[in-house]
Amino acid sequence: MISFPDVAPGERIAISATLYVTFRSCPQQALGRLRGEYPTESIASFKGSLAHRVFARHLVSGPIPERDVLQACREEIGAPEGHLNMKLAPLELNRPSRLAPVLAEVGDLYARFKRFPTDGFRAAEVNLEVDVGGGAILRGRVDAIFDDPSGSPVIIDWKTGARLEDSGPQLEFYALIWALERGELPSRAEAVSVQTGERTGIDPTPKRAEEVAREVAAMIETLRIALQTVSDVDRRAGPYCRWCPLLDGCTEGTTAVEILGGP
Ligand code: SF4
Repeated sequence: MISFPDVAPGERIAISATLYVTFRSCPQQALGRLRGEYPTESIASFKGSLAHRVFARHLVSGPIPERDVLQACREEIGAPEGHLNMKLAPLELNRPSRLAPVLAEVGDLYARFKRFPTDGFRAAEVNLEVDVGGGAILRGRVDAIFDDPSGSPVIIDWKTGARLEDSGPQLEFYALIWALERGELPSRAEAVSVQTGERTGIDPTPKRAEEVAREVAAMIETLRIALQTVSDVDRRAGPYCRWCPLLDGCTEGTTAVEILGGP
């Protein structure tokens, strides 16, 4: 139903929602990711990842009694698929006194999360992957799928900290991959703040999905040329520069951080 533009054959390249969102903010930072330059792991991202694992457990296996939440957190940290165990030492969370407040915050997030209705729940942590030809793959991991009253899928992305107003491009990317893999657009894609219960979202249309497909195809071409020719792409500075792994060598970014105020 949704067609993806032809992609010229080239080196294998995998495009995630994170890469697409990063490219829209700053193409050079996205290129850096493909060259192995990632933002350093933070306690906030660890907390978010652990909370998402606990949310998925709730949806799949049912509510976790309050007395078992800490144990559930520990089990999720040890689960191989989450890769959380290997992040403990670099973040110094292997010390009980450092880990305890993180687990307490995840417990607090879970207490809020379990108030959400689960009617229409279909699946949690759904991996999507589409081969769009020419060696290019689109990938996404959707937090949850619910069915709307007519039985059509609704994509849900839980937000434990990020601002909801930045979520549009990520949701559009998920809607595109869902449509390419499943042959139908989701009826809606939503970001939900676990802190406040606030929701924002998009009602995907074929026209917008085709536009996003063209943007992603153009992004693939731009990134591949830069990788092949060992050249740079556009830099677009913004508040996100302070977390960019390329900041030290980037004039645009350091200027932006000076103007906007750094950490
Ligand atoms: S520091 Fe800012 S402008 Fe420079 S590459 Fe990173 S995100 Fe882009």
